Amino acid sequence: MRELAVFYCPKCGHYAYYHTSRHPQCPKCGAPGAMLMVRMHYLEFMQLSCEERDEYLTQEILNSNPSLLKRLNIPHEKYNSRELIAEMNNVIMNLDTENKILSDTVNWMHDTIWELLREKRQAGQALSAEAAASKEPLED
Ligand SMILES: [Zn+2]
Repeated sequence: MRELAVFYCPKCGHYAYYHTSRHPQCPKCGAPGAMLMVRMHYLEFMQLSCEERDEYLTQEILNSNPSLLKRLNIPHEKYNSRELIAEMNNVIMNLDTENKILSDTVNWMHDTIWELLREKRQAGQALSAEAAASKEPLED
């Protein structure tokens, strides 16, 4: 069964939806390591607002690197404008990824629909073959 998951890049914070079987590389910054899978179901993640997604991923990234958290906390007062710019940058990135997510989801739904149609057709053929075998033909 095809299943989607949310993957994020711990280097730049970019996130996207991929099949769980993939080990995607970040298309945004091209970091050499594979992107990390979010430990939350993608449907649940999709229901979060952009801010909540951002907060969640920020926490995930910070958890993966505790020294980052320290460095962020020290200059907290001095560099508010930098933080604001970084935050706006995230909003823009989220809008970009939102577009990507929508087209990825459409592709995935399209694949799933074709898969279901094919399975249904195969099941239908099996049934009619069975029915034909159990019945005498009505005509020559
Ligand atoms: Zn990246």
